[in-house]
Amino acid sequence: MRLTVIGAGPGGYESALEALKRGFDVTLVSDGPVGGTCLNEGCIPTKCLCRNAEFLEDLSMAGEFGVEASWKVDFSRVMARKEQVIGELRSGVEFLLRKLDLVYGKAEIKDGGTVVVGDREIESDFILIATGSVSASLPIPGAELCVSSKEMLSLEEVPRRLCVIGAGVIGLEFASIYRAFGSEVTVLEYCRDILPRFDTDLSKRLKQTLLKKGISIVTSAKVEAVEKQGSALSVRYVSKEKPFVVEADTVLMAVGRRPALESIDFASAGIETTPRGVVVNRYMETSLPGVYAVGDITGGIMLAHAAVFQGKRALNHIAAGCPSSGDVDGIDLGLVPAVVFTSPEAAMVGKTEEDCVSEGLKFRVLKSFFRANGKAKSAGAPEGYCKIIVSEEEGKILGCHLFGAHASDLIEEIAVAMAAGMTARELSEVIHPHPTLSEVILSALDS
Ligand code: NAD
Repeated sequence: MRLTVIGAGPGGYESALEALKRGFDVTLVSDGPVGGTCLNEGCIPTKCLCRNAEFLEDLSMAGEFGVEASWKVDFSRVMARKEQVIGELRSGVEFLLRKLDLVYGKAEIKDGGTVVVGDREIESDFILIATGSVSASLPIPGAELCVSSKEMLSLEEVPRRLCVIGAGVIGLEFASIYRAFGSEVTVLEYCRDILPRFDTDLSKRLKQTLLKKGISIVTSAKVEAVEKQGSALSVRYVSKEKPFVVEADTVLMAVGRRPALESIDFASAGIETTPRGVVVNRYMETSLPGVYAVGDITGGIMLAHAAVFQGKRALNHIAAGCPSSGDVDGIDLGLVPAVVFTSPEAAMVGKTEEDCVSEGLKFRVLKSFFRANGKAKSAGAPEGYCKIIVSEEEGKILGCHLFGAHASDLIEEIAVAMAAGMTARELSEVIHPHPTLSEVILSALDS
């Protein structure tokens, strides 16, 4: 069987590799470096900067045991390390892709079995689209003076004053990173709380922790314009009907991403789209038979790991003979852990308390605090909170929301327990090693 994959981000290249493993003849078309946004200008470079930022935070703790900690960062070396990591990982991906037909160029879809790249026509039984997303911007005067997450990953120097528009995942990650590097950071968020899609209780508590780190956060702030004032920028916003101005050297626009609907001429190909993305069914099939789409291009949850599992779903559907109903695998595409690499990290999986209320569910909330955890305390990371929501009657785990050291790793325990349909009691009967951060979860379960 032949498969053509368009787009070489995690959704595309992981699906292409999985298809290869399953015996497909695979062509992968990419109009940019393999690895896509995630590897080249998203998750991976951000994590490099997060690590450097974390190291600086640790250095400032060193004074507690008598180490004179005064530092000056050579930012060009921070960026060089990031480039090196990207380069090594990209070579690794290129090495893995050597067994398939990798074509560089812009793809168009001629029909359900033909992809055109330049003057080459690639015939296949199935096509999988994974062309991703692009940064969104606000329709305000001066929006072009702002930078996106991509430019934030290649600044030449640490901005003295950074203003971030949007307290979502991207905004808060860069606020944390650049605060650790010494920037004065102000975050302006339109909604009442930071991370509006997260559990409100968690957002409020995380906000307090970020404020303590010296990040200024203004919620219910409507940004109206960005203006140039000499070499600096002024960000004008309205809050509680009063006008305010923040002066900054760099302004990050982080108000979301949108599907890259201009990546392919979907209308000519006969593939249905809405402004939210390419329309797909539960099997990731588009409106054009034989053509699947996964990842950010389909809108919804824009996360690399979601894209990868959507790709597995599409391949499982093909392997099952493309049925129009029934299950083709045991993957629950509704159960997607989400992680924010702030300092400390935040993570969630499942329903928020607000979801449970709006769905009329009867539930209980179990809580614990990192400050009562021996490992967190001894590691000098007492800030953090874990909240597990369980159904009132059965005690099934409905969701978990936490922030604190290594929250991004801790959340997976709950994702596994939820996928297995475990109750809080059943999970609390599994022995957790001591002293570890995983006991934060155990403490919540036992609370
Ligand atoms: P987001 O949707 O997470 O957050 C955008 C924020 O901007 C929201 O809080 C929103 O209320 C706010 N906003 C919107 N209009 C505004 C205005 N006029 N003034 C002030 N604030 C305004 O989007 P993002 O942070 O840009 O991230 C884009 C996508 O990339 C998301 O889907 C995210 O999940 C994904 N991403 C994930 C990770 C990760 O998994 N760690 C990291 C980066 C990005």
